[in-house]
Amino acid sequence: MNLIVIGCGRVGSELAFHLFKQGHQVCIVDQNDKAFLGLPMDFRGRTLEGDALNQIILRRAGIETADGVVVVTNFDMTNAVVGHIAQTYYKVPSVVVGNFEPRYRYIYDAFNLQVVSPSHWGAQRIEELLYSLEARMVFSAGNGEVELYEFSIPQAWEERLLSELLPDEGCQPSALTRAGRAMLPELDMTLKLGDLLLVSATLEGMTVLRQRLENQQGQEV
Ligand code: AMP
Repeated sequence: MNLIVIGCGRVGSELAFHLFKQGHQVCIVDQNDKAFLGLPMDFRGRTLEGDALNQIILRRAGIETADGVVVVTNFDMTNAVVGHIAQTYYKVPSVVVGNFEPRYRYIYDAFNLQVVSPSHWGAQRIEELLYSLEARMVFSAGNGEVELYEFSIPQAWEERLLSELLPDEGCQPSALTRAGRAMLPELDMTLKLGDLLLVSATLEGMTVLRQRLENQQGQEV
């Protein structure tokens, strides 16, 4: 694919190199040519110095025929505006933009852009890792709004119903593995010690579920 990465900083340089390694045609743009020094020596994509807010630069980067554009500068306004232009004016099929400051997230939402907020996602992950229960996050969807967790059923929840364990909101069972066999779990099934449960949950749903699991008496919270 023909891909453009705008902003050769911490995220952009790593992403551009990875895309290049995957065999894509990559052009990376930055207004500061020193930023290209951060690229690995064996990066063989194109580098283009210039301000992404300048349409001549965008055209030189190949935006008219690009299959995908990623905008990850350190300025949220730039990311939102360039992402919007790429999506609406140049009709680039796939546009993803980075959100630097979580408080500016609303700007992206107004433009209906696909956004990744590394700081928001990172803070959420750190919070999750701080909790003691060994529920392992195995997949993160979107920007981490919904994640897939795997954990084994502790003693306190043996012979209890799955419906008692799961909170009513923000948590849905995806699979249950018992003695090596996976099944789609029904809410009225009885849990066994060591069952491996996979749930998709929001942060709020997972917080309630963690409290229930940690409660040694197996009481609902
Ligand atoms: P970082 O702060 O490490 O994520 O890097 C962001 C990069 O975006 C820096 O290398 C900046 O020079 C670059 N940058 C910021 N604004 C623009 C812009 N308007 N056009 C092109 N590159 C930009």
